[in-house]
Amino acid sequence: MTPFMRQYTAAQQAHPDCLIFFRMGDFYELFYDDAVKVSRELQLTLTARDKQKSVPMCGVPYHAAETYIQRLLRKGYRIAMCEQMEDPKTVKTIVRREVVRVLTPGTAIDPSLGSDENNFLASLAPVGKDAFGVAVLDLSTGDFRATEFRGTDAFSLALDELGRLRPVELVLPESFHPGKAGLLADDEVELPGLEVRTRTPVEDWVFTADYALPLLQGHFHTHSLDGFGLAGHTAAAVAAGALVHYVRSTKQGELQHLDGLKYYQRGGSLELDAVSVRNLELVEPLWTQEGVESTLFHALDTCCTPMGKRLLRSALLRPMADAACINRRLDAVDEAVGSLRLREQLRRALDNVLDLERLLARVSMDSAGPRDVLALGRTLGALPTVLAEAAAFKAEGWQMLTSGFDALTDAYAAIINTIAEEPPVTLADGGFIQPGRDAELDELRTLSQSGRQSIAAIEERERERTGISSLKVRYNSVFGYYIEITKANLNSVPADYERKQTLVNAERFTTPELKEYETKILTAHERSVEIEKRIFAELRTTVLAAAHRLKETARRVAEMDLMAGFAHLAALRNYIRPQIELEGCIYEVVNGRHPVVERRLELAASGRFHPNSMHLDGVEGPSLLLITGPNMGGKSTYLRQAALLVIMAQMGCFVPAERMRLSLVDRVYTRIGATDNVSRGRSTFMVEMTETAAILNTATERSLVLLDEMGRGTATYDGLSLAWATVEHLHNRIGARTLFATHYHELTLLSDQLSKLENLRVACKETSTGIVFLHAVERGPANKSYGIDVARLAGLPQTVIDRARDVLRLHEKAENASVRGAIPAPPQPALQMTIFTPLSQKIVDRLQETDINSLTPMQALQLLDELKREL
Ligand code: ADP
Repeated sequence: MTPFMRQYTAAQQAHPDCLIFFRMGDFYELFYDDAVKVSRELQLTLTARDKQKSVPMCGVPYHAAETYIQRLLRKGYRIAMCEQMEDPKTVKTIVRREVVRVLTPGTAIDPSLGSDENNFLASLAPVGKDAFGVAVLDLSTGDFRATEFRGTDAFSLALDELGRLRPVELVLPESFHPGKAGLLADDEVELPGLEVRTRTPVEDWVFTADYALPLLQGHFHTHSLDGFGLAGHTAAAVAAGALVHYVRSTKQGELQHLDGLKYYQRGGSLELDAVSVRNLELVEPLWTQEGVESTLFHALDTCCTPMGKRLLRSALLRPMADAACINRRLDAVDEAVGSLRLREQLRRALDNVLDLERLLARVSMDSAGPRDVLALGRTLGALPTVLAEAAAFKAEGWQMLTSGFDALTDAYAAIINTIAEEPPVTLADGGFIQPGRDAELDELRTLSQSGRQSIAAIEERERERTGISSLKVRYNSVFGYYIEITKANLNSVPADYERKQTLVNAERFTTPELKEYETKILTAHERSVEIEKRIFAELRTTVLAAAHRLKETARRVAEMDLMAGFAHLAALRNYIRPQIELEGCIYEVVNGRHPVVERRLELAASGRFHPNSMHLDGVEGPSLLLITGPNMGGKSTYLRQAALLVIMAQMGCFVPAERMRLSLVDRVYTRIGATDNVSRGRSTFMVEMTETAAILNTATERSLVLLDEMGRGTATYDGLSLAWATVEHLHNRIGARTLFATHYHELTLLSDQLSKLENLRVACKETSTGIVFLHAVERGPANKSYGIDVARLAGLPQTVIDRARDVLRLHEKAENASVRGAIPAPPQPALQMTIFTPLSQKIVDRLQETDINSLTPMQALQLLDELKREL
């Protein structure tokens, strides 16, 4: 092996899970499998390093590497940057190379990250048998949180939490395998339901309290972790410690902006599980081809700053559950709705605020150039106006943000007085420090400036002296300053010129005088760049010393932005303030609209949204609404709207309705349609039943439950029976506010027996050309099923439609005779399930007739056999 290949192999062995970007002069080269993969992913030409073509190779120029790297990170790859550690000019043998940074999807901080979204790196720490810690970190903003779950459900709760956070990279112990640990029935499945592009196994010992806790304390310079709320939460602390370990192992700078960690617990907020977050399209569309327009996030986002947008996203995933906090925000929004002028002034001020958190993170990780720092400075300069505008509002929610607001005027002054007005992108050539900042720097700059002027003067003088009007004095980085004379004028060159270089059409010379100025200029320049870099480093330290304050200010700005955005939205779209009820289980909406569908219809100019009302009470009125009606009639929309309005109200946002009253909801459950699990080999029906089980086992009286088309994944009677029993359970045992959309007409009969069940239907009109959907939700059961009418609208051939109608008529006749006749309205709830089983009566009769004492064992067996055949 050549020394060169030895170097490469060493880097590869140290970072087996990374693509190795191997620096060679002006290129980063990739070899072997890496080269094959990358050439395919980035459409680069694949070449070979050797003549035998046994070492595939591809490369990217180093100055353009950034964009290639970002693309690979977005695809989930990890990259080790192996740099030249010596100047190739100064060494005779091979240049020393080392991996100086490891870039991973979860530790990216580059400016190309979507600014309205966090880039989460997460860890999962199993501690003991039934405790799981989860930590998440957004390195690009410094947002760092941890939580933990205990007990028999700990693993599935931890998975659910991860599903909600949607990290781009997940760190977990290398030997952890949920199947083998007995956490999952199926050993093949790894972390079901979790789509993380990059999973990063880390040695098991990192995930121990003995290692991870002291590491965290060391990082935060604290004696205990209690201050972060981690007392007694070892699993959470281990998960957080493992993240710090991992991020450090990627050697990405000092991490000073990572100056705190928050322990949080589910509860204390309206809980939304990962299934509901997905089904309700809170932040991501269910089907990617639909685009973000179908998400609630998109419909509500009118924030001016990236911090506001990220806060909106996290507020959507964790709406509040405390009436006082919700009302405080509603009051604040209400006040801002009331004054267009003040609101607009504040929003205009916020428009000048760039991404404080991400800029700070770049400074902290030493990847900020002069322009980033200046951008940070200018943003700080916008803060006093933001404060002044926000201070015009008097509600408590505003006062809590404005009183004690730190506009960081000191950090602002430090930056603005240091960085030049139009600085270059990088530090390399200087020119980014303000004149007047440092006396020595100014002097050196004058020196190199006057040197340059002297050189211009030399050019002028030499032209006259030699009489060569095309004589030029020029500079390049290899030869320094030189005098260039074209071939035609060579005979006029004076004797004191020394020849330096010969070109095709010209010769280049130097003179002792020119050399002298050159040294002067170059040393002055070199020295001045050094000073500039030193001043820049000092400025960086100053800014980082204010990191904590800056983050607090960023948090406040985000919240101001969110509230002003909600107010703007309310005024723009005619949303109203929801009324929060402290008692009972009320959920009442008068003429509510679905915020996303309403927008879609408006934008497509395809009709208007038909507002619908709803009344759930639990004490006096109904607790369960059973909704029937044709497909496409608007059932799902009605259900989703019910959930979205609750989420909005509990975020402290106004809602699209004429009136809304709500007793707070503790958790929203959804079982809607079949989602993407099918592709992972779990049957639709199994997924549906698992989700339903979770609802029936954990919903409370305060929950909101949405069930859409339950039971359609199995045979009609199975499905109907399960739906029937589920409705009874929700109604009798749980009492949660429930919306149940179904195509089983039989269920509407339950209203006779269940006092808090109300039938609703989506209205439609039958016309000579087919049915027309009115999208109005009315009292009462749908009087027939419209499947065939909808099928006709979908374009099924007329022969099939006619035949289907015949078959339907036959079935209805048969059913009326058997099933309908057999539906009893028994006084005992336990007997309600006998609707389809008149056969069992035979068995009961037969048993009653039998005198067991007179049976021989053989006869008993025969009887058993007979009864079994009756089943
Ligand atoms: P279902 O669940 O009954 O099959 P959906 O709720 O999916 O029906 O609604 C079908 C379509 O009807 C939706 O895509 C939506 O565009 C439209 N729609 C639903 N509700 C309304 C409404 N209240 N006003 C206007 N259009 C509606």
